[in-house]
Amino acid sequence: MMSIIIPAYNEEENIENTAEVIGGIMKENNIDCEILFVDDGSRDGTWELIESIARKNKSVRGLKFSRNFGKEGAIFAGLKHCKGDCAAVIDCDLQHPPKLMVEMYNMWKQGYQVVEAVKASRGKENPIYGFFARSFYGMMKSSSNIDMNGASDYKLMDRQVIDALNELPERITFYRALSSWVGFKTAKLEFNVAPRNAGASKWNFKKLFKFAMANLTSFTNAPLHLVTVFGFIFLLASIVLGIVSLVRLCCGQYQNGIIPLILFSTSLIMLALGVIGYYLSKIYEEIKGRPRYIVSLDTDELNKNF
Ligand code: UDP
Ligand code: MG
Repeated sequence: MMSIIIPAYNEEENIENTAEVIGGIMKENNIDCEILFVDDGSRDGTWELIESIARKNKSVRGLKFSRNFGKEGAIFAGLKHCKGDCAAVIDCDLQHPPKLMVEMYNMWKQGYQVVEAVKASRGKENPIYGFFARSFYGMMKSSSNIDMNGASDYKLMDRQVIDALNELPERITFYRALSSWVGFKTAKLEFNVAPRNAGASKWNFKKLFKFAMANLTSFTNAPLHLVTVFGFIFLLASIVLGIVSLVRLCCGQYQNGIIPLILFSTSLIMLALGVIGYYLSKIYEEIKGRPRYIVSLDTDELNKNF
């Protein structure tokens, strides 16, 4: 059986259509599947819809978070609770073409353990967003050697890969990169991002920036090393400048270049402290060991009582 994990946050306009479209495609191709909606603490009618579909259709299940924990949490909850021999993660707005799942499933049957859908085009998006996405992926590639160009969350994974991901102990996760990091036999399929079916994107710039920073620091220590490199450069520069000043002083020349230097070096120290502080805060968050999400409702439990 195949599991289809769908994170959903305030998607009441999409739930019914998405369940119908995906269910239809799977039926047409005789693929036995379960559809698992993970409601990421929606404040609209998303959960009520999931619940009513799950009552009618036994192959649809749902989990509801106690509040909005973010898409990452929703994906990992889906991976933990899915029962399939393989599972695909797909967006609720059908921006990921669902028909591709059939092809992904066939590749899995051929023995591939991870089938990634790679964006051939990024669809209609803000050019600023595109610029940031490219720079972020560039930094990830150069520092952690994970090629994320065109990467998306649209992937199919074998049970072995799901179990490997479920065993990762870290709290701050980045599914898109982790699913490459775990390895396994991987195939790539290209797709074009479709326009959103209904509703608006659930991300804003602040959310995306925080997401990029968290992921960059959870995959690479390069910023910390950069701080050390800067430290060395400035140590050398200050030694040279010190010698020059001493010589000038000995020659009786008045020196006044020291203030800008102090300002410059203190600002660098502050920057360095900021970077260290950022990593420290990540360690703090990890060490608290809080769960990535809290499930408040589960259709499996509801159906038992029904
Ligand atoms: N999503 C989520 N939690 C969030 C934000 C988004 O579960 O906090 C889900 C959302 O319901 C959708 C998917 O993640 O199924 C992708 O979100 P969206 O379409 O808003 O992102 P975009 O396509 O603009 O990158
Ligand atoms: Mg979308």
